Amino acid sequence: MLDREMHCFPRLRNALRRARDLVGLATTSSAAASFTSATSPKIAAMEDLQKLKTRLCIIGSGPAAHTAAIYAARAELEPILFEGFMANGIAPGGQLTTTTDVENFPGFPKGILGYEFMERCRDQSVRFGTQIHTETVNRVDFSTHPFKVFTDSRAVIADSVIVATGAVAKRLNFPGSGEGKEGFWNRGISACAVCDGAAPIFRNKPLAVIGGGDSAMEEATFLTKYGSKVYIIHRRDEFRASKIMQNRAMSNPKIDVLWNSVVVEAYGEEEKGVLGGLKVKNLVSEEVSDLKVSGLFFAIGHEPATKFLDGQLKLDSEKYVVTKPGTTQTSVPGVFAAGDVQDKKYRQAVTAAGTGCMAALEAEHYLQEIGSQEGKSD
Ligand code: FAD
Ligand code: NDP
Repeated sequence: MLDREMHCFPRLRNALRRARDLVGLATTSSAAASFTSATSPKIAAMEDLQKLKTRLCIIGSGPAAHTAAIYAARAELEPILFEGFMANGIAPGGQLTTTTDVENFPGFPKGILGYEFMERCRDQSVRFGTQIHTETVNRVDFSTHPFKVFTDSRAVIADSVIVATGAVAKRLNFPGSGEGKEGFWNRGISACAVCDGAAPIFRNKPLAVIGGGDSAMEEATFLTKYGSKVYIIHRRDEFRASKIMQNRAMSNPKIDVLWNSVVVEAYGEEEKGVLGGLKVKNLVSEEVSDLKVSGLFFAIGHEPATKFLDGQLKLDSEKYVVTKPGTTQTSVPGVFAAGDVQDKKYRQAVTAAGTGCMAALEAEHYLQEIGSQEGKSD
């Protein structure tokens, strides 16, 4: 009923545009070149893939990936960038495509819409010659140099790689939170208020947001445009959100907070098959109360997009890529990581862009050290 892609105009538009770009790029690719296929049974199907080679392959499409691409392209490294095709459910452009105004990136005194900002970053990457493919990287091989990066239709042999795949919103698991028969996911439950909040089923209805960070404040404030009332359900008695975001939410008369509270169940509205309400437990009194809402939005943080690395880079306990402090160097020389995929502390567009710049400069230095030249990868 609530189809995320259809209700998310910027994301749909971006995805369709990338698909069109893909057709153009596939036919004009200048870096296409054949290389000897490896004997490993894991990559035996390489004959079916279009082969490319490059000095630098960038994986990702947020501020980190595009900043890296702009620097690398201006340094004439002719980077190949895989921006993903709804990778982890997020459109090319990354997390900022799921938000409205970005007000804290320097240079935009009046703020800028998240998806518009990312369109501009992408245009700047293309302007300096980055070759962008709207494909998701599903496998890498960092065990030998040069490295290999795979999508469903392409295999890239690369002298260096920058991983900038960002992070993805977390979901909670309780009775009624699942998909289909398991619950009301996409039928009242969502992890993106900005994408789904305007749907008719939420109009003039009470809604709830779980979380206590900046996302929860932003999503709750945003939802007051549509809902009759917005409850923030938070497991502790204080928010971790920045003061300015907290103040904005708390001063909104439509927002109420349920402190020290967790959702233990979601139930449906009779006969309609959509969310009807929540059972909410107060962690201090242990009392479970009923909260009638038509929408529930998770805003409980993110998970780094590192599964496709299949353990080939050192990760920390929360699966973030480990980088050498003060650098973007990973456990594999020649592979660099930038943005939220290696940063669980700051997680901002400007810090992602900053580490993207660092990664490109470090990759350039590395390529000089190994004597990598244009058109030469082995
Ligand atoms: P991301 O933005 O996470 O993008 C990475 C992208 O790479 C993915 O989304 C996907 O499209 C692609 N990708 C992933 N895996 C693959 C793969 N295997 N192959 C190919 N491509 C892949 N920060 C601010 O500074 N100001 C704000 O106002 C602000 N608002 C925010 C609002 C919301 C709702 C959220 C969730 C975050 C907000 N942030 C804000 C944080 C900011 O969006 C992130 O810090 C920033 O986008 C991280 O950038 P990144 O380059 O690491 O990657
Ligand atoms: P955060 O990690 O900052 O916050 C997550 C929130 O969800 C916390 O309050 C946490 O509770 C709660 N939570 C986590 N797990 C659970 C769970 N299992 N059950 C219930 N609650 C849970 O994530 P955000 O997405 O809010 O922010 C991520 C980054 O993006 C931050 O750096 C933020 O500054 C940035 N951002 C910036 C914005 C802006 O500047 N305009 C807007 C949105 C995000 P607890 O506090 O108890 O740990």
